[in-house]
Amino acid sequence: MKAKEFLTEIARRFPNEPEYLQAVEEVVTSIEDVYNEYPAFESQNLLERLCIPERIYTFRVSWVDDAGRVRTNMGYRVQHNNAIGPYKGGIRFHSSVNLSILKFLAFEQTFKNSLTTLAMGGAKGGSDFSPRGKSDMEVMRFCQAFMNELYRHIGADTDVPAGDIGVGGREVGYMFGWYKKMQREFSGTFTGKGMDFGGSLMRPEATGYGNVYFLLNMLSTRGIDIRGKRVAISGSGNVAIYTADKLISLGAKVVSLSDSDGTVEIPDGLTREQYDRVFELKFAYRGRISEFAAQEGFPYYEGRRPWQIVKCDIALPSATQNELDGDDARALLANGCVAVSEGANMPSTREAVAEFLGAGILYAPGKAANAGGVSVSGLEMAQNAQKLSWTAEEVDRRLRDIMADIHAQCVRYGTRPDGSVNYVKGANVAGFLKVAKAMHAQGIV
Ligand code: GLU
Repeated sequence: MKAKEFLTEIARRFPNEPEYLQAVEEVVTSIEDVYNEYPAFESQNLLERLCIPERIYTFRVSWVDDAGRVRTNMGYRVQHNNAIGPYKGGIRFHSSVNLSILKFLAFEQTFKNSLTTLAMGGAKGGSDFSPRGKSDMEVMRFCQAFMNELYRHIGADTDVPAGDIGVGGREVGYMFGWYKKMQREFSGTFTGKGMDFGGSLMRPEATGYGNVYFLLNMLSTRGIDIRGKRVAISGSGNVAIYTADKLISLGAKVVSLSDSDGTVEIPDGLTREQYDRVFELKFAYRGRISEFAAQEGFPYYEGRRPWQIVKCDIALPSATQNELDGDDARALLANGCVAVSEGANMPSTREAVAEFLGAGILYAPGKAANAGGVSVSGLEMAQNAQKLSWTAEEVDRRLRDIMADIHAQCVRYGTRPDGSVNYVKGANVAGFLKVAKAMHAQGIV
């Protein structure tokens, strides 16, 4: 296999899917050498089968808004690969959702889930429905209509959805409720469920905490202490908020948060009291980061992202794909940033990634760094299967172990001759090998 030719052909077949092509390109270029060491892979055309999703469901969702108007949205589920376990991955509700974005997310999820050491294949789903500005009843009717199509394609051992952007505890609860009604059984078909009906302790915290645990593993390779470090975070959703929570406990300074409207700068670092207030604003009132800035008297930058505004030692992009471009990366590096660890999926553009790798800073791609979320989803599935629930300490201990294991896999496959680690290569090769060997053993299916 020659990566260049392979990528040209994939681009010819899927010309209108830039995010999908971006994700595929990153993986294929970094696994080319390893792939070519196994001629048996090529004899099964394994790479092409691994890049193209096994199955995609597309459907129309009709629902009625509070004004009695009939509305439609598109619904999707991309079942990318189930070689190592049932399809697993979140559901995204956002106006930007399209097939390219869900295909990139399902592709990434396959490698991420492979890294977690747990038995989970890769999937992603979603809709161009936006819960923002909708009433609870509108969100409920939409979730029920969405699930009325999807319920027949998922199951505890088939495909297990969870949350993602726009899908939190409220949406998972409504979807799980409708699934249970249609299927006439109570099973662990969703993760991220409420604590009273099969959810796992620590699942809300898992992605953010996991990213910080991964960061600590990376920093320790260079003897860097997190205490007192200035950390820029983008986003203010589930991932960003719990990232900030853990960083404050560790004595780091959180110097920014953001949302799709703008960035708040927190010059002296977020205090625990301010954290409690932003948590309440975001989760109890579904408020905006501009309101937090106004309430605390912090500088607010409308329409801007944090990267060129705040000076930081560490950047944790935790909002969405392609939110950090080449110029942002150059600004971060010029300001002395020594580590970037991705809480979001593919937040850095290809150009930004090249800048980080070229500069030799600690740079962790999302599929390694943010795998804590889906890892605790895997632990939720394990608890549901046993009909037991573990303590928060137990789940947290396992999460720390898993993140350390993912870090070790990156080191194993990504160490450069000078002893530094290319985490992109390490994560891609480790994630790929497990899935590829499983696919090979299972034949052409
Ligand atoms: N949406 C999350 C992710 O990107 C979590 C998926 C899950 O828990 O299944 O990994």
